[in-house]
Amino acid sequence: MKQRNLYIKTFGCQMNERDSEIIEQLLLPMGFLPVADMGKADLILLNTCSIRAKAEQKVYSLLGQLRQYKLSNPRLLIGVAGCVAQQEGMRIQQKMPHVDLVVGTQQMYSLPELIGRLDNGQSLKPRIDLDPCFRIPALREISAAGKQPPSPAPRSFKKFVTIMQGCNNFCSYCVVPHTRGREISRPVADILDEVRSRVEAGATDITLLGQNVNSYGQTNQVADHPVTFADLLRQVAEIPGIRRLRFTTSNPKDLTDELMRCFAEIPILCPHFHLPVQSGSDRILAAMNRKYTVADYLDRVAGLRRYRPDLALGTDIIVGFPGETDTDFEQTMALLEEVRFHSSFSFKYSDRPGARSSSFDNKVSERVKSERLTRFQKRQDEISLARNKEYLESTVETMVEGEGKNGLVQGRSATNHLVHFPGTAERALRPGEVVLVRIDGAGQHSLTGTLLNEKI
Ligand code: SF4
Repeated sequence: MKQRNLYIKTFGCQMNERDSEIIEQLLLPMGFLPVADMGKADLILLNTCSIRAKAEQKVYSLLGQLRQYKLSNPRLLIGVAGCVAQQEGMRIQQKMPHVDLVVGTQQMYSLPELIGRLDNGQSLKPRIDLDPCFRIPALREISAAGKQPPSPAPRSFKKFVTIMQGCNNFCSYCVVPHTRGREISRPVADILDEVRSRVEAGATDITLLGQNVNSYGQTNQVADHPVTFADLLRQVAEIPGIRRLRFTTSNPKDLTDELMRCFAEIPILCPHFHLPVQSGSDRILAAMNRKYTVADYLDRVAGLRRYRPDLALGTDIIVGFPGETDTDFEQTMALLEEVRFHSSFSFKYSDRPGARSSSFDNKVSERVKSERLTRFQKRQDEISLARNKEYLESTVETMVEGEGKNGLVQGRSATNHLVHFPGTAERALRPGEVVLVRIDGAGQHSLTGTLLNEKI
């Protein structure tokens, strides 16, 4: 079989990162090997995100640049997958005729067949499909048939496992229920099988992924008895060999006491949690259709901290949602002061085609959105720095990731902080190894320290 080079550019969330990994595995049996240099690729695939206008603009901008690549190499195949593909469909090929292939979010499993048809000279219409069939078990079929060659990915110690797809929540600003379809949970046995095979291949740090993992198992039967996400988490945690377990993303409205208690009772569940709040104003949360209030959110934060006092908490914030007044924004700032998040991702609101809020009145001007975002981020940076200083003089279990900046070793704490420290000539450190680091420096985005000799 002729070997060809594959370059995948992934935009957006960890769900997309995992999908890109699956695409790599699907295309390996066709002779496609991943390369780091886009210029050497025979197939360039953009796995896209449409959550914000800026993310979509980046996709179109890169597609524009790829026109030159295609002119200098007419045999190059260019494909678009993911949420922009799902949303834009035919429009992509109309705007960018040099694109060969457009596959919707549920159609990535058809990629080998579609590429085979392109190889045979057949032109393709975009494949846009929201068919709610959950196809990840197909990967097991590939493995079972012995067709799945070793991918570079499974040797890595850090792995994502998708436990569900889609979402039923219809937050008014979000396109996910339209681009990824309705919520479907994978069967428990499939998830446990996949985690076991990841661990056997060397993974020790597992993250369970879904758009709203808290509602896992609630909309379709995934076992012969009802299963909650907390049940699943406990079963995954029993698989020998996992050192760190995480999950994302969580809608606060579905965060149960049973799930919060897991932070106290599952030792390998990392004390780091991303709980998107989006706004500190009840009026805006209602307009966003988030189905919780600020008081509900604070109640969850108190519960989490009761079960796990050392929990590092992150969140997402949207500023400038339609109708957001100065008072609403001040309430978001007040929430930031009250919770003192360790970190946050904050964005200016942008209209997304298909999202209900696109038709809302009282849009906030770009100038006001920018001012609010700058103010929020400046204060968050100050709080993150103060939070990080709380780790000074403490000893932190750090999982080695590899070489970082300035010749330092880079690792990650269980609280998800980047930790940099000098290596030593006497001790070779392997990625995935957990070492003890004494923290003696704290910045806004990372910690620095000294490697201790004690073994864990
Ligand atoms: S919970 Fe809301 S924001 Fe998250 S994916 Fe679902 S609709 Fe989008």
